[in-house]
Amino acid sequence: MGFEPMTPGLDEVHILWTSEGMSCDGDTVSVTAATLPSLEDVVLGAIPGLPKVHLHNKVLAYETGDDFMAAFHQAARDELGPFIFVVEGSIPNENINGDGYWSAMGNDPETGEPITVNEWIDRLAPKAWAVVAIGTCAAYGGIHAMAGNPTGCMGLADYLGWDFRSAGGLPIVNVPGCPVQPDNFMETLLWVLHQAAGLAPPIPLDEQLRPTWLFGKTVHEGCDRGSYYEQGDFAKDYNSPKCQVKVGCWGPVVNCNVTKRGWMDGVGGCPNVGGICIGCTMPGFPDKFMPFMDEPPGGTVSSALMGVYGPFIRTLRSLTNITANKEPKWRHNEDALTSGYDPHWTGRK
Ligand code: SF4
Ligand code: SF4
Repeated sequence: MGFEPMTPGLDEVHILWTSEGMSCDGDTVSVTAATLPSLEDVVLGAIPGLPKVHLHNKVLAYETGDDFMAAFHQAARDELGPFIFVVEGSIPNENINGDGYWSAMGNDPETGEPITVNEWIDRLAPKAWAVVAIGTCAAYGGIHAMAGNPTGCMGLADYLGWDFRSAGGLPIVNVPGCPVQPDNFMETLLWVLHQAAGLAPPIPLDEQLRPTWLFGKTVHEGCDRGSYYEQGDFAKDYNSPKCQVKVGCWGPVVNCNVTKRGWMDGVGGCPNVGGICIGCTMPGFPDKFMPFMDEPPGGTVSSALMGVYGPFIRTLRSLTNITANKEPKWRHNEDALTSGYDPHWTGRK
């Protein structure tokens, strides 16, 4: 995708972060576990070259109530300065809210009425230097937008339009995951901040507006159980260390790097440590992956093919493995050298 280059060189930037969509705040909590970089590193200016960052997130802010809301109102009045707008949670359809509202943040000082998240998005997204959707709910609708939900909720690009461009010329940046993998979000934010400082080219995004270096590969391609798959050796229950495709893993068709990256500081994950991949980063999540603990339809075909080829390869490998586990016969403590040593240089004549 081609993007317009942005204006370089912001010295200071605010991050206005709302988690008042249809949200559990899990992405905010997740990001506090990041180390590459940590939120503290970014906020305290530990990374050279970045703009000075002022973070406004309700879970982490010192301010409460109207004091916390002040920056959002200032931004809406163009009085705050450049800001990145981070949206967490899916966006309800307020056209079908009856007499009330689905989700709101703060009150309108003039009317005393709650200001819906949708109203905040309308006010702030067009003024934001960049707009970032954190988590699958904000990116694509997620669990709250599953079949049968009453709010008609959706992802940010469904609400603003997939062609939306921020004031900095960027499309919406989606960092999906339920919750988002901590370092995935912080790396993305770091790129956007470097871009805002004029130190990085436009962030590379795929068709679903995901950073390509994070979501360009599948779970399966990074899974350390892939060798079991390749040998047709499948788990029959959830206590097995083998490939879990027959007990519900969707890894082969899901874009996510958690099997490669781990969860916190390289520790944890999903299929790599025994939890089936339920496709939580995907636009089709959750409906297209349910019921989670059934074998995915494609898994039956691929595992049947591997079931023929795999045992044959496994037998050959186990024979070679037996050989590789034995030392060569010339390693002994007998009187004769049997290593095959053949001296070409026999000394001076
Ligand atoms: S557990 Fe899932 S991701 Fe891992 S090898 Fe098996 S199918 Fe692939
Ligand atoms: S491996 Fe699957 S379940 Fe785990 S975070 Fe990635 S997409 Fe979600």
